[in-house]
Amino acid sequence: MPDNSYVLVINCGSSSLKFSLIAPLTGEALLEGIAERLMTENAIITFKYHSNKASQKPNKEQQSQKTILKAPFDHKTAIAQLVEKLKQNQLINKISAIGHRVVHGGEQYSQPTLITEDVKETIKKLSKLAPLHNPANLSGIEVAQQAFKNLPQVAIFDTAFHQSMPEKAFMYALPYNLYQQHSVRKYGFHGTSHYFVSQQAAKKMNKSIEQCSFISAHLGNGCSVTAVKNGKSVDSSMGFTPLEGVMMGTRSGSIDPGIIFYLVEQLNYTLAEVNQLLNKKSGLLGLSQLSNDCRTLEKSALATEDYEKSRLAKLALSVFCFQIAKSIASFSASLTSLDALIFTGGIGENSSFIREHIIEHLSLLNFQLDPSLNLTTRLGKSGNIATKNSRPCLIIPTNEEWVIAEQTYRLIQQLNKSNS
Ligand code: ADP
Repeated sequence: MPDNSYVLVINCGSSSLKFSLIAPLTGEALLEGIAERLMTENAIITFKYHSNKASQKPNKEQQSQKTILKAPFDHKTAIAQLVEKLKQNQLINKISAIGHRVVHGGEQYSQPTLITEDVKETIKKLSKLAPLHNPANLSGIEVAQQAFKNLPQVAIFDTAFHQSMPEKAFMYALPYNLYQQHSVRKYGFHGTSHYFVSQQAAKKMNKSIEQCSFISAHLGNGCSVTAVKNGKSVDSSMGFTPLEGVMMGTRSGSIDPGIIFYLVEQLNYTLAEVNQLLNKKSGLLGLSQLSNDCRTLEKSALATEDYEKSRLAKLALSVFCFQIAKSIASFSASLTSLDALIFTGGIGENSSFIREHIIEHLSLLNFQLDPSLNLTTRLGKSGNIATKNSRPCLIIPTNEEWVIAEQTYRLIQQLNKSNS
């Protein structure tokens, strides 16, 4: 692989910009980081270096450097500081393309897409479906286009992998014109992650992805479950927005929509307050009244000094595990066979407690964990944590940045080939 074939992956949010410089075929990251609290005077940018030579380890200071972001503290300044760092470290010439994570691709995009003016216009139009995400993703694209004028830029959509869902899975039982005229349907999110872990799971099982069926549970701050049949998504728990499905760190997941009328009509909530309640104040945080962080809740559930605090932490965790188990069981309706269940995301990869309490509801699907494998498989390890007689239950650490880098690289190669 030529020395300049690294891909700069950009994931731009409304107040943050994550970046990583990645070797697309191996997933090796040379530099990564995040600019946070953008648009405020407390904006900071953190750079984390990785040496590309195994023998030459970066020193502690190099490994993670936090720098105050210069005024006007915006995405453009963040990219400018990133460009400066890339130049200082002679990395700028290693970049062959930029890959952007874009949350919503609607029904238009099911593949990695070279960003043109038309594509930007469509991403802008799709902002009505993802008002918090697409405008931020678009501003990331625009500042990167200004900073890296000669490099191709590619969009990888979070919804793309789920475009293979059949109609019976993506339609809501609402008047049909809401779909036809206003695009109201299930889209599914976390697609890049579900794609990556199902590909890795097939490799682990020494089977081709076309011969495999999986249920994949991505459990992080956001959580979603997806059924993958022959390498394609056939159903997913998140819906029109990432609010649907299982409960999450601060999101409620699916609730009776009647609760919203009750909040507005009887308790005088405004729609903005309902939005805030369901997206930011519910889920693990709302039920426990303590935290959205699974580690904090696990500690509190075991603590004995405050009975009520511990009771609510246990309650939040048990509702969480039960909802996820029910979602996993329900996806068996989309499959005719099941090779393995996959856990990924910060909670799925690390919490033996959560995995145990999900699996205890799934004995009918022939899942049974090996307690010692469950305890020891964490911190970036992958493997099967089920007993020999059980259906496999795999831990696969996700790597969305690598997928974005690889798909960007392959698309550019393909376009170069067809142009030559
Ligand atoms: P995001 O969706 O923001 O990318 P992550 O995938 O990093 O989030 O997941 C964050 C969640 O993972 C938090 O709830 C955190 O408590 C949980 N988590 C991380 N490490 C552990 C651990 N060792 N045990 C339990 N939960 C963990």
